[in-house]
Amino acid sequence: MSTEITWHGTQQESFELVNAIARNCSCEYGLMGVRLSTCGSHLMLSDDQRALDGLLFVRRMAKRLWSEEFSTGGTVLIEQ
Ligand SMILES: [Zn+2]
Repeated sequence: MSTEITWHGTQQESFELVNAIARNCSCEYGLMGVRLSTCGSHLMLSDDQRALDGLLFVRRMAKRLWSEEFSTGGTVLIEQ
């Protein structure tokens, strides 16, 4: 089954995802460098649009939640 996968993130986000997958890849290669089996992470890149979109959504949501963690929600006026 062939599906068209589209990356909806930025180029920087793409680089970071590819690097994270490379660090955690468990694909198996033969002596001539031919891939014998494909790991789940690489399968996701080629076959799972929903997973990629979900990763991007959670990544951006986590950044937003992290930045809001110590926000006071506005300025406080002190009357004297
Ligand atoms: Zn892999």
